[in-house]
Amino acid sequence: MKKNITHVDHIAIATKDLQKSLEFFEQALGLKCDHIEELPERGLRVAMLPIGEARIELMEPTREDSEISAFLDKRGPGIHHIALASPDASATFDALKERGVAMTSDSVQFGAGGSKVAFVHPKSSGGVLLELVEQVES
Ligand code: ZN
Repeated sequence: MKKNITHVDHIAIATKDLQKSLEFFEQALGLKCDHIEELPERGLRVAMLPIGEARIELMEPTREDSEISAFLDKRGPGIHHIALASPDASATFDALKERGVAMTSDSVQFGAGGSKVAFVHPKSSGGVLLELVEQVES
């Protein structure tokens, strides 16, 4: 049987000021930003900073009704979600559903770069939004 989860893929941090957050991670911690991506359909600008096999993902809203605006209004800047790599996101999704775990969608969806993603609802995971991500080899 395949393992459900193999490693931490990324930790996503919501920020109101991407430039300022980048300055901290690059200048104070010496990490390097890999790329910055605009995601207009989600109202986000995202910066990726690799750390070993994992990445820090900084997310800044580009409009008032962005995917993270409600989160920022309610909780302020901080950790938005933790993404766990799964070699088979659909199988992991089904296994979690079978155990009665609440998911935020009815099925696995397509994420950045053709990856497959699904989210575990915080009410099932102790208040932490968990992303399952299956990276597609390019
Ligand atoms: Zn993510």
